[in-house]
Amino acid sequence: MARKLKAVVIGAGMAGILAAIRLKELGHDVTVLEKADRVGGTWRENRYAGLHCDVPAHAYTYSFAPNPDWSRHLSPGPEIQLYFEKVADDHGVTALTRFGQEVSEARWDDAANQWKIETKAGLKLDADILIAATGVLHHPKMPDIEGLDSFAGTAFHSARWQDGIDLAGKRIGIIGNGSTGVQIVSALAGVAAKTVHFQRSPQWIMPVENEFYSDEQRAAFRADPKLVDAIRYAPEYEANVRRFSEAINDMDSEAIHQIEWVVANHLETSVADPVLREKLRPNYRAACKRLIFSWDYYEKVQQPTVDVVTDGIERIEPAGVRDRAGNLHELDVLILATGFHADRFVRPINMIGRGGAALNDVWAKRPSAYLAVAVPDFPNMFLLNGPTGPVGNFSLIDIAEKQWGYISQLIARIADGEIASAAASHAAMADYDERRIAAAKKTIFASGCSSWYLDAEGVPASWPWSYDAFTQAMTTPKLDDFDLAA
Ligand code: NAP
Repeated sequence: MARKLKAVVIGAGMAGILAAIRLKELGHDVTVLEKADRVGGTWRENRYAGLHCDVPAHAYTYSFAPNPDWSRHLSPGPEIQLYFEKVADDHGVTALTRFGQEVSEARWDDAANQWKIETKAGLKLDADILIAATGVLHHPKMPDIEGLDSFAGTAFHSARWQDGIDLAGKRIGIIGNGSTGVQIVSALAGVAAKTVHFQRSPQWIMPVENEFYSDEQRAAFRADPKLVDAIRYAPEYEANVRRFSEAINDMDSEAIHQIEWVVANHLETSVADPVLREKLRPNYRAACKRLIFSWDYYEKVQQPTVDVVTDGIERIEPAGVRDRAGNLHELDVLILATGFHADRFVRPINMIGRGGAALNDVWAKRPSAYLAVAVPDFPNMFLLNGPTGPVGNFSLIDIAEKQWGYISQLIARIADGEIASAAASHAAMADYDERRIAAAKKTIFASGCSSWYLDAEGVPASWPWSYDAFTQAMTTPKLDDFDLAA
C-alpha cells in the first residue's frame, strides 16, 4: 500500500461495522460517524416485542465472526444487537466510532480528491474514501390516519418502541401486518388482555421452523467451529437461497408457483374458522409483498383474545380505533407497525458531488446506484446495501460482504496510487438502470400489489437478477465502467 487513506464510514450498523473492520485491517485511518449512542443500526433501532431475524442465525452472521451461541434457528433481536456490539468491541470499531455525530453534509472537493464532511454537532472531517452504510429501512413511516394525535392511550411506531412498557393485561392495537406487525402480534397474543390486529392488506405467511439450540449443541459449536460452518454453508441452505432468488426474479417460474402452493396450503390447513381464513387470504401473489416467515402467527391469531380487523380504519379516537364498519375498538396502547420510507438511503444528508451535483437531485426520480454500490459524480463514495441491491429475503450480511469485496478492490487501487478517484460512469449507470428496470418488471414484486419494494413509478427498486448473478457482479470491478481520475 503506497498510501494510508483517510476513510469515513457513515453508520455503525451491520454494514458500517464490516467496512470499519476491513479498512482498519488494511491499515487505513478510519472514523465511523454514528448518530446514535450505540452501534447496531436496525437492531438498535428496532426493539419491538417479538423481534426476530427471519434469516437463519448462522447465516445472518459475519463470515469472519461465527457465533456458536445463537439460542435458536431464527435469532431474537436483542441477541443480534449484542452480537454486533461484541464484534464491534472485539475488532476495535467501537473505539473508533464517534457517537452522537449525525452527518449533515458531505461535499466532494475535486482539487483535493477528498470529501469534506460535517456533522450536526459541528465536527468537520476530511476523507479520501466515504462509505455510506446508512441502512435501508430507518425512517419510520407514520400513517396518515385522522385523529391519531387524539388517542388518549400510548401510541408509538414499532421502530420507536417504548422501552420498559408493560403490555401484560393491556388492550393493544397493532396497525400493519408486514414482517414487523406479524411478529408483534405473535408476541403479544395471550400476553395482552386483548390484541387487535388491523390489517389493510392480508399477507401470505411462509411456515418456518424455529427450533432452539440446546446447551449441548452450543457447547459442540464452541468446541468445533466446523459444525457452525456446516450449518452456514449447508448445500441445502445455499440451494434454498438460489431457489428463492429464482422465484422472486421470475414471476412465471416454477419456483414461485411452489411457494404459492406452500403458503396457500399453510393458510388452508392452519386456520380452522372459514371466516377468519378468508380475512387472512391475500388477493395478490405470494412474495409480491416481502414474504413473511412465521412459525406461530396463524396459531396466535386464532387465540380468543386476538381480533383481526379488516374493515379498514375510519379514524382514531381518544378511546381507540373506529373501523369503517362503525365499531370502536377500545385500546390502551396503539402500535404503528406501518413501515418505513424505503427510498431515503443516505439522505437527508446533503451529499454534493463533483461539479456541485446534489444527490437529492440525482435521486429525484428514484434512488439508484451502479450495481448498488457507486453513483456517477460521487467519486470515492461507496454504498453498502444501497439502492437497487438484493434486499429480498437474503442475508444482508452476506450481501454487504460481497459488496465490500468489490468496493475494496477500487479502494486498493486508490491506496496504491494507481488512481486518485473512481466514480461510476454515466454510461455504465444508464445501461445498468435500463437493464435493471426491464428485468425488475418480470419480478414477483411487479405482479400487482403495493409494497415498499416499488419506487414512485411502481417499478421494483431491488436487484432483479439471480443471487449468482449478484455474486458474479461483485467479483471484480470493470474499470471501464468508472470515471477514473489519476
Ligand atoms: P411494511 O412491510 O412496509 O408493512 C407496513 C404495514 O403497515 C403494511 O401492512 C401496510 O399495509 C400497513 N400500513 C401502512 N400504512 C397504513 C395505514 N395508513 N393504515 C393501515 N395500514 C397501514 O413494514 P414492516 O412490517 O416494518 O417491514 C418492513 C421490512 O422490514 C420488511 O419487509 C422486511 O424487509 C424488514 N423486516 C425484516 C424482519 C426480519 O425478520 N428479517 C423483521 C421485520 C421487518 P399495506 O400492505 O396495505 O400497505
